[in-house]
Amino acid sequence: MSEARAEEPLETPVGRRSHPDKSPRVANRAPDAGLAEISSFDSVGRFFEVAADRLGVAEDLRAVIATAYREVQVQIPVRLRDSGIHVFSGYRVQHNGARGPFKGGIRYHERVNLDEVRALAALMTWKTAILDIPFGGAKGGVNCPARDLDEHGLELITRSFTDKLAGIIGPTRDIPAPDAGTNAQVMAWIMDEYAKLHGDAPAVVTGKPISLGGSPGREAATGRGIVYAYREAARALGLHPDTTRVAVQGFGNVGSWAARIMAQLGCTLVGISNTSGAIHADAGIDPDAVAKHLAEGGTLTDYPQAEPIAAEQLVALDCEVLIPAALGGTIHAANADSVRARIVIEGANNPTTPTADEILRERGVLVVPDVLANAGGVVVSYFEWVQNLQHTRWDEHEVNNKLGARMRAAYREVEQRAGELSVSLRVAAYELAIERVLQAIRLRGYGGYA
Ligand code: NAD
Repeated sequence: MSEARAEEPLETPVGRRSHPDKSPRVANRAPDAGLAEISSFDSVGRFFEVAADRLGVAEDLRAVIATAYREVQVQIPVRLRDSGIHVFSGYRVQHNGARGPFKGGIRYHERVNLDEVRALAALMTWKTAILDIPFGGAKGGVNCPARDLDEHGLELITRSFTDKLAGIIGPTRDIPAPDAGTNAQVMAWIMDEYAKLHGDAPAVVTGKPISLGGSPGREAATGRGIVYAYREAARALGLHPDTTRVAVQGFGNVGSWAARIMAQLGCTLVGISNTSGAIHADAGIDPDAVAKHLAEGGTLTDYPQAEPIAAEQLVALDCEVLIPAALGGTIHAANADSVRARIVIEGANNPTTPTADEILRERGVLVVPDVLANAGGVVVSYFEWVQNLQHTRWDEHEVNNKLGARMRAAYREVEQRAGELSVSLRVAAYELAIERVLQAIRLRGYGGYA
């Protein structure tokens, strides 16, 4: 099969609704994923330590990469229409910028805190290094209740936060992107506020609306990247799409796109869950029909062509591939034994705790780690940045094919290393990332990056 043909099932269908849980208001996003990632600080640290120990990274160098380059906390007082003045806290953690400008999303949620943002910033450093894109790692957030705010409140918070970060972000310094609770509209406000201070610079954020310089393919990119990871894992295990049953936990941006593109590839979607519950059908579930049902106000569990099951049963469904795409920590010591899938592809950040990771490994389940599996979003963010800097636009086919090439190359590099050293894909991925970041630090010196 030619390379071009091989990409065809992963094309984005024209006219599809992009996000089943989303309404035009940011405030109406589904109860967001990722908040259990507040506890992910320890997980990321433990995965890092295992790899750093194996590499024999000296304590002094380890301190350089284990700590953040810069951590900013700012006060964001805003007068909300119905409830007076509220003071929120905004954070931006720039973890490491040795390989290029800091890069990472901005999350709005009432439980955002510095530890969570720190952990997710470090994850971005490893992710960009594994995919070999010229960025460092960062993350940001505001502890505001995004789902309960109207557009006016969100805009005030975003503009105030941008003013306070304006000295440390920029197209060659630090480039934010959307995360849970934020979207393309929020990125447009950041771009606009930044322009008032520094002049027009679309490359200051990615994940923008396409009409303002966003990239075709960005919205589906993380889900599509997961499907590229599936194809590589399936090749290694001799699995074919027509005999692959998939269960997807979380049906937001990442989960819904992964489900749709897996189905387009010929896989059978046997289970889906979200915060309202879970459904199951041996004969297969049509993800587009589910998205339509949700968009029309239905809930997952009253979707007529599947049977409702307890939410906890989703991870234990009889299937070949499990895609956790909701919260951090959803596969843990108490349920890892019940996983029946042959492959777990981590769509969410930190869905598998270190203990569960060990259990899955002992049971022979192939885990494709978050730092590799869900990197499609940051790869296409990189493409958006490149297009902005070059004042050009690629079409979606080109974006998707370039994404496929990056995901394949990274997967194979990690897989080869894992095979040679008899370690998991996660250990191999972290090792690769740490080596690349250390090499950049050695070459540039230990000082300031941005
Ligand atoms: P989202 O808010 O769009 O969707 C999250 C989905 O998970 C929703 O359907 C929600 O109902 C569901 N959910 C929440 N808690 C659940 C639970 N306990 N059980 C089952 N379902 C539950 O978020 P998203 O953008 O799709 O992000 C999902 C995860 O992927 C997060 O961990 C995020 O950090 C990670 N991630 C996202 C991107 C991206 O480009 N959006 C990139 C890399 C990683």
